[in-house]
Amino acid sequence: MDADALLEQSLPAPMRLLFVADLHYELKQFDWLISHAADFDAVIIGGDLLELGSILEPDVQIVVVEKYLGRLCQQKPLLVCSGNHDGDARSAANESTCHWLRDLKAGQLFVDGDSVELGDVLITICPWWDGPVSRAEVESLLARDAEKPKKRWVWIHHSPPDKSPVSWAGKKFGGDEFLVGWIQHYQPDLVLSGHIHNAPFNAKGSWNDRLGKTWVFNPGRQIGPCPAYLIFDLDKMSVEWVSQEDQVVRQLDGPERGISGLAGAAAGA
Ligand SMILES: [Zn+2]
Repeated sequence: MDADALLEQSLPAPMRLLFVADLHYELKQFDWLISHAADFDAVIIGGDLLELGSILEPDVQIVVVEKYLGRLCQQKPLLVCSGNHDGDARSAANESTCHWLRDLKAGQLFVDGDSVELGDVLITICPWWDGPVSRAEVESLLARDAEKPKKRWVWIHHSPPDKSPVSWAGKKFGGDEFLVGWIQHYQPDLVLSGHIHNAPFNAKGSWNDRLGKTWVFNPGRQIGPCPAYLIFDLDKMSVEWVSQEDQVVRQLDGPERGISGLAGAAAGA
């Protein structure tokens, strides 16, 4: 991207970011977002806005969710990645793709494939990948943004890394093994995910983990009018997890953890 295009997507320095994922067409939780967005400098949704198992057709859900996203991005910058429930088409390679979200891109609404500068933080919005072609698209996105100047780098990627407590599904890990490799290669600062709904609520799971330098997160999914959510303060380098189960603040500027601790973390810590 050239300098002008970079400037176009450059926004005021962030203080507080709100992150949720896996709303799965829970409209009360979208309502909650609408009524709380004003308290934050940007709102991030980490995929699975729609619910494939609903009796409502995806087309109908899309119309409603589009209205919510439109209202949200009138208040604050809104960054949204797709999840495995959000596809509305098949590509030539017969992989699920999410067209409707990309078509919404405008103004303060940033979507799959975008990179957004919030002050000196660069945020890369990764689409859900469903096979080798869409996976290669994510790889080239990360390679593109690796070249860009930034003090901190944040990825939004629906699936969490595999073999981490944030992807512990109860009996096995359900994360993305390729993401683990990308994290090891690029060592971004934060990776914001979802997908494994119960990981934070499971005894062997967690809402956070650290792979080397990189912090990875999954706020989890809960029923009721309020989603489980994370509040990032990138000035203080702290994060707060708020859910029906707990409310915890954690500092993010401590020493790195060894990558070797990856699988072991789920067994104990
Ligand atoms: Zn989900």
